[in-house]
Amino acid sequence: MGASATDRRDSARARAAIDGAFEERPLSDPELIGELLELPLFSDESSMLIGAARRLSEQACEGLAEVHAQTSLNVGPCVRNCMFCSFAECNGVFSEQKELPLEGVIRQCRQFEAAGANAIYLMATGIYPFRRFIERAATVREQLKAQTVMIANCGDFGVDDARELRRVGFEGVYHAVRLGEGQTTDIPIERRLATFRACREAGLALGTCLEPVGPEHTTEELVEKLVITRDAQPAYSGSARRVPISGTPLGELGAVSEARMAHILAVVRVVLPLSIPGNCTHEPNALGAAAGANLLWAEMGANPRDTHEKTEEGRGMTVAQCRAVLSEGEWEVFGGPSAFYRA
Ligand code: SF4
Repeated sequence: MGASATDRRDSARARAAIDGAFEERPLSDPELIGELLELPLFSDESSMLIGAARRLSEQACEGLAEVHAQTSLNVGPCVRNCMFCSFAECNGVFSEQKELPLEGVIRQCRQFEAAGANAIYLMATGIYPFRRFIERAATVREQLKAQTVMIANCGDFGVDDARELRRVGFEGVYHAVRLGEGQTTDIPIERRLATFRACREAGLALGTCLEPVGPEHTTEELVEKLVITRDAQPAYSGSARRVPISGTPLGELGAVSEARMAHILAVVRVVLPLSIPGNCTHEPNALGAAAGANLLWAEMGANPRDTHEKTEEGRGMTVAQCRAVLSEGEWEVFGGPSAFYRA
């Protein structure tokens, strides 16, 4: 059966939208973004989209991918109750609050440095006291090389706190308005957006992502959150899937395939302007890297996708493993302090 007039028109619109990205006209029409997200996997248009995203990623980062690395300052139940997170109190994975010894955190950060991580993230759960975060991060900073890019990944904060982060040596922050924010989390979207504004006002670069994608998320919600990442003018966006935590309500819904995630992160790349160099995905996979993800994460310590307290013994990958995944995706990896966060 031949293509209908509607099919031909939709295909032409998708191709025009993808071409537009090369002309540095970021897509602003939510309906069109939705159409790109809904292109059937493995269709000619999806293949074209992924090819375009890959070339755009290469242009945006001058062909050089990055590996960032994260460790944590604490582990324990968090009353913000983001249902996708292993720390959420409602998920009952961790029962006890623990501060992880600073010597161990510093040792891990030095391992990341030695392995060539382009940026090092310090993470704490959403209820970890901000003053404590600052004090301990300042000690870590003193023990790292001056050129190491340090990034904070913590709960929401205001502009004075953002300035404190800057003062103790953070160059940027990872923060996101997550899928389901305010519904499957106890955090209002506006509070997350206020943190974005605080970062900008304090001169902290922002890394963000369309995450954590689950099978139940509608095109409308994906578009809404994708547009938020674009409008935040981040150092990078991208897309990451939710890792199911077994025995939890969201865990029961399963996971989106890596093939589908490759398509979604490709849409993110064509929607964001070329002035944004990074396009991340998590967890690291070669399909996503080939489709244009030029930023992957290594992890140690606790992480919200793992039920192990030490993710290096569980799901977490090393810097070398992330570099190997990028190599499988035909990327060269940048050597030096993150160009994405300093773009
Ligand atoms: S994602 Fe952050 S704020 Fe939400 S439950 Fe987990 S640690 Fe708490």
